[in-house]
Amino acid sequence: MKKQVVVIGLGRFGTSVCKELYRLGHEVLAIDTKVDRVDGIRDYSSHAVVANATDESELKSLGVRNFDHAIVAIGDNLQASVLCTLMLKEIGIAKVWVKARDLQHQKILEKVGADKVIQPENEMGIRVAQHMNSEKIIDYIDLSNKYSIIELVASAKVADKTLNQLNIREKYKCIVLAIKRVEEVNIAPLPNDQIELGDILVVMGHRDDLKRLEDRGI
Ligand code: ATP
Ligand code: ATP
Ligand code: CA
Repeated sequence: MKKQVVVIGLGRFGTSVCKELYRLGHEVLAIDTKVDRVDGIRDYSSHAVVANATDESELKSLGVRNFDHAIVAIGDNLQASVLCTLMLKEIGIAKVWVKARDLQHQKILEKVGADKVIQPENEMGIRVAQHMNSEKIIDYIDLSNKYSIIELVASAKVADKTLNQLNIREKYKCIVLAIKRVEEVNIAPLPNDQIELGDILVVMGHRDDLKRLEDRGI
């Protein structure tokens, strides 16, 4: 479904969020105080406007209240980021997602009502380290601080065995959600489906169980 999103702050992060949302077909209003940044995003947004997002009357006159979703990507100016977040919530935007530069910034944003706080450098750093740490893990998503979904590459140890034979659910308390093979994705694997060498298994479970599966099971 087409969403109406306002992106505030066109640094690297805001620009990339804006371009991708627009590419996906959503209506995106891009805002920055700098003319060159706004000019640069014109072809990759529905509307691009030079405005100060800490000025409530400017936000209102742009019709920001009609948007379902806002992204605040003002990283380095803490005051502007917090003020803008507070105002967007007061205007009544249902989902306000904000980029934070560190934990302290994150905590303040949560207090003023941010619905989601993102620390891109921090999160990407963890992700890169996780990839480096394990040759088997291709990707992972945290569901909570206990549960994750990871993608694991099937080694010779599990090749030509069925899910039933591997008994991952009982032995490791993990659930195989999907099996990826080249271009094909089996999204509802059955007990008799066979794993091939190099298949990518999408598995959900407790972090400790996933770690056991990664070390011993796959
Ligand atoms: P990056 O994603 O590149 O790391 P960043 O979060 O470190 O970005 P900046 O590069 O400073 O932050 O980008 C923030 C952008 O937000 C800048 O283009 C800046 O002009 C814009 N900005 C700052 N304050 C406001 C404001 N009050 N209203 C609108 N835009 C603002
Ligand atoms: P962030 O991930 O916070 O966005 P950044 O890419 O914007 O980081 P900086 O915050 O400037 O970059 O961090 C780069 C770090 O690299 C700094 O701590 C700096 O001291 C260090 N650094 C820069 N040049 C060198 C160098 N020649 N040798 C070793 N360290 C360096
Ligand atoms: Ca930055």
